[in-house]
Amino acid sequence: MSVLDLLRPELRDFAGYGSARRAVDPAMAAADLWLNANESPHISPGDPSGEQRRYPEPQPLNLRKKLAAVYGVAPEQLLIGRGSDEGIDLLVRALCRAGRDAVVICPPVFGMYAVSARLQNAPLVEVPLIDGRDGFQCDLDAVAAAAVGNGAKVVFLCSPANPTGQSLTLDEIDSLASRLADRAVLVVDEAYIEFSEQPSCTGLLASHDNLVVLRTLSKAYALAGARVGAVLAAPELITVLRNCQAPYPLPVASVTAALATLTDEARSSARHRVVTLRAERERLLQVIARMPGVRRVYPSDGNFLLVRFDDAETCYRQLLAAGIVVRDMRAMPQLGDALRISIGSAKQNLRLEAALAEAAAA
Ligand SMILES: *Cc1c(COP(=O)(O)O)cnc(C)c1O
Repeated sequence: MSVLDLLRPELRDFAGYGSARRAVDPAMAAADLWLNANESPHISPGDPSGEQRRYPEPQPLNLRKKLAAVYGVAPEQLLIGRGSDEGIDLLVRALCRAGRDAVVICPPVFGMYAVSARLQNAPLVEVPLIDGRDGFQCDLDAVAAAAVGNGAKVVFLCSPANPTGQSLTLDEIDSLASRLADRAVLVVDEAYIEFSEQPSCTGLLASHDNLVVLRTLSKAYALAGARVGAVLAAPELITVLRNCQAPYPLPVASVTAALATLTDEARSSARHRVVTLRAERERLLQVIARMPGVRRVYPSDGNFLLVRFDDAETCYRQLLAAGIVVRDMRAMPQLGDALRISIGSAKQNLRLEAALAEAAAA
């Protein structure tokens, strides 16, 4: 059996849209007049360099190679998309038959998994996180049982998890991927992995063709506006996802920004920023934990803290009155008294601290 047997059967020999950019003929390489894609021969005043006149490469090779090197995989194991959000959507669409094949999630968790399941009309199976003494924990035995028992095709785990902050170990991921082999695809969303001490689980891809890892330039690389993320998986699965993707998913400007963000120099500055941010996160955790009106601050491997308050509503409103917006988590299961606070710069954090000390005690 191969991971391709888990796909929606009608997609197994689906070739996707044959865009002008995808039709490749060796003679094309030598051509210098391209009249095959109904592009304008003129340059727009909005694009004086003319860089955006033509349709972009669907998967620019230089960016693909660069991201593959950064993430430690082969270029064939990687699909670039409009943020990891697009990866989530493509996976659900490619794997789940509407009304039949389930998606497993562990709430409280990032909302896009449920949104994509809903859009595809895939049944959603929830295995709640357990709020323990050391923070939230994922019950992986329950996840495996729920996936197998409900015939799920996709299991989403988030590590480090948003908004709860905890991580999974490689052993845990390895063992769950084995248990789900030939049954479901295990997707590990590593949007925050750069902020964690845990290594990425990309090293496990070689031994599990049902393992998928999501990475993004939106968080540690400070490029959320460019919408660049990656799906890392077995090459045969990457090919299928690519066929399901829109024909020209990556705007020229986003590709340019991504390449500039991945030079050695830019990566080294990103690493420095992460070190600073982690130190700020630990400092802020101590400070907030001691504030009156704060019930609990969870340890976090991400660039945020999840905080429970005696009166989260008042606290949220008072922060807002001070011009500070944090994320209200109260609608999420188990988080009726919680706010999620992104870690800012040292200066921003001082301002947050001052406002929070007042708001939490109010
Ligand atoms: C922010 C976030 C993403 C979205 O990343 P994009 O690449 O910007 O789409 C994915 N997963 C989790 C858990 C996130 O918190």
